[in-house]
Amino acid sequence: MLFYVRTFGCQMNKADSEVAAGTLLAAGHLETTDPAEAELIVINTCAVREHAVDRLYGYVNSLKSPLKHNQSPLLAVGGCVAEQKRSALWKDLPQTDIIFGTSAFHLLPQAIDRAAKGETRIDLLQATELLPDHLHVRPEDPWRAWLPISRGCNNFCSYCVVPYTRGREASRALDIVLTDAKTLVARGAREITLLGQNVNSYGNDLGEPGLFAHLLSSLDDIPDLRRVRFLTSHPKDLSPATIAALAASANACEHVHLPLQAGSDRILTAMNRGYTLDKYLERVEALRAAIPGVALSTDLIVGFPGETEEEFNETLAAVERINYDSAYTFIYSPRPGTPAAELPDEVSWRTKETRLRQLIELQSTLSDRACQAYLGRVVEVFVIGPSRRGEVSWTGRTRTNKIVNFPAAGAWAGRFASVRITGAGTASLTGSLCGPIE
Ligand code: SF4
Repeated sequence: MLFYVRTFGCQMNKADSEVAAGTLLAAGHLETTDPAEAELIVINTCAVREHAVDRLYGYVNSLKSPLKHNQSPLLAVGGCVAEQKRSALWKDLPQTDIIFGTSAFHLLPQAIDRAAKGETRIDLLQATELLPDHLHVRPEDPWRAWLPISRGCNNFCSYCVVPYTRGREASRALDIVLTDAKTLVARGAREITLLGQNVNSYGNDLGEPGLFAHLLSSLDDIPDLRRVRFLTSHPKDLSPATIAALAASANACEHVHLPLQAGSDRILTAMNRGYTLDKYLERVEALRAAIPGVALSTDLIVGFPGETEEEFNETLAAVERINYDSAYTFIYSPRPGTPAAELPDEVSWRTKETRLRQLIELQSTLSDRACQAYLGRVVEVFVIGPSRRGEVSWTGRTRTNKIVNFPAAGAWAGRFASVRITGAGTASLTGSLCGPIE
């Protein structure tokens, strides 16, 4: 079958979609980038942010004409929204043929065979079979790869649906992750991003605490693996051993995404984050002491139920003090089924918007300053591909995750370049090529 995969959501979802596509390709199906010609449309959804359900429904309904046109291709809907809505999806989206959960991507080929035999409403949500150790993956580009090291989460932050949709944390064994990493590198990957809802607790469920530090050190021994990144790092589990391994590993990039969420201890407790601002600041100091020049980014939520002006100001003060390179900022919105959704939402939408604007303004100033600090420096850029400005201009990232655009003749995608920074914006840098780095 000719299939098309559409992903709404986070990095974990994108990685899952690569498994869905890889599994279907391995089963002999062919991928298309045009949903109008697809015989099978796979939609992978995320419920972490608001409007996920609306986006899914809007998208499926926008497919109406190609669906008719194409004499009813199969429609498979999966991921977190499917886990949340469950059988209600059959009623809301009757054109759906297959519903699958966050651990059933590998079962899609069998479901397609069942559908081809005339079975309707195939429900893989009940599948108890665990994801196999070795998965087929179709990476988005050959030089950079996602590598899931664990699935699920045990933290139950009060605003988050992940523990309900993806279940408890389950780490993949170290030797399997390392084998996967070596395979990806043998296929051409030079940068690997390790994925887990909380990479810092990797191995705890296997009775092997501290395994993440060990993984980082082991990855450093893989020749040709030039860069290692990871998402997401929970501050409460960021251990001194992990910080030491990051500092000692040549291929671990000098960038840590460390979600703070709020600067007020009362709000952090209400969010069930498991740390105070002081504890968070200790981790930041330890990172900066061990890894000179480390770039920090974060996630922040404004307008959590009951957040006062004073508590919001604590967030602003923390952001200024920590001096992040960048931040993802969100307005709180209740996720059905989470404890925070039961709290009275006393902060008006207008106040939330005002707070978000203030926070974005502050972070823009800090991001601007962080970029300015690169002017005149020569940095290593891993080139991802042509920039939006055209073929002669290339785009890539520094080890600290800054976007760099530079003009150069020749083919640079997938190569490392030495670039002198000559211009700085809020979100990206520009520079001139000094030469290749082999
Ligand atoms: S750590 Fe918290 S925010 Fe992150 S996935 Fe787990 S419950 Fe959600």
